[in-house]
Amino acid sequence: LIVLDHVDKHFGALHVLRDVDLTIHRGEVVVVIGPSGSGKSTLCRTINRLETIDSGTITIDGKPLPSEGRELARLRADVGMVFQSFNLFAHKTVLENVTLGQVKAKGVRPAEARATAMDLLERVGVADQAAKRPAQLSGGQQQRVAIARALAMKPKAMLFDEPTSALDPEMINEVLDVMVGLAHDGMTMVVVTHEMGFARRAAQRVVFMDAGQVVEEADPETFFTAPRSERARDFLSKIL
Ligand code: ATP
Ligand code: MG
Repeated sequence: LIVLDHVDKHFGALHVLRDVDLTIHRGEVVVVIGPSGSGKSTLCRTINRLETIDSGTITIDGKPLPSEGRELARLRADVGMVFQSFNLFAHKTVLENVTLGQVKAKGVRPAEARATAMDLLERVGVADQAAKRPAQLSGGQQQRVAIARALAMKPKAMLFDEPTSALDPEMINEVLDVMVGLAHDGMTMVVVTHEMGFARRAAQRVVFMDAGQVVEEADPETFFTAPRSERARDFLSKIL
């Protein structure tokens, strides 16, 4: 579904993605891990074109990423993104947060958009919060709203960039449980996270990045118990 081929990206003199080749199959859940600054967020951001690339190609469904206009808006709907910092519209209610994109970007009728939104809020367990503003919710609830908002666009794939790292420990699982549910429902997902439990429960593949390179790819069990590269062993020894 998503194919990166020889992707390179610099920020000035800094070479942040180095010849990255990565294929994400339909329905696959891929966890990306690696040290701080290794390029994980940049990788995610290039996939829905929040960042441009210097060379190489990225295709979704065999089509190159669009660079502007309607096509770019479609891409952002097709590839939902959930960030560490929730990024909800602070001055809108929870329900409006999940309704607006459907109406504005997809032309869904407001009543239908609200019905879809309520279904999704139900699914992520925050339907009772629909009339509140984001600031009145816990971090875990806000993140679940952010997931519902992305799902409302009926994405083909979802990117998660450290979705639980800003959360208090007791809220991490409520978000991970929603993500595991999505994975079981067959959503294609790229998840940057250091939550090994999630990787073991839901991922088919772990991709280890270091210094802008994909150093190693393996199924979670193999990666966590028998990493091949020295760099992966070193990283795991620090976080486990
Ligand atoms: P973390 O685990 O800390 O989130 P990461 O693996 O997500 O790290 P990136 O955020 O992708 O790493 O950053 C990769 C490198 O690119 C880092 O050295 C970072 O400082 C640099 N970088 C990221 N965004 C920009 C930017 N907009 N301008 C300049 N440099 C950037
Ligand atoms: Mg990051």
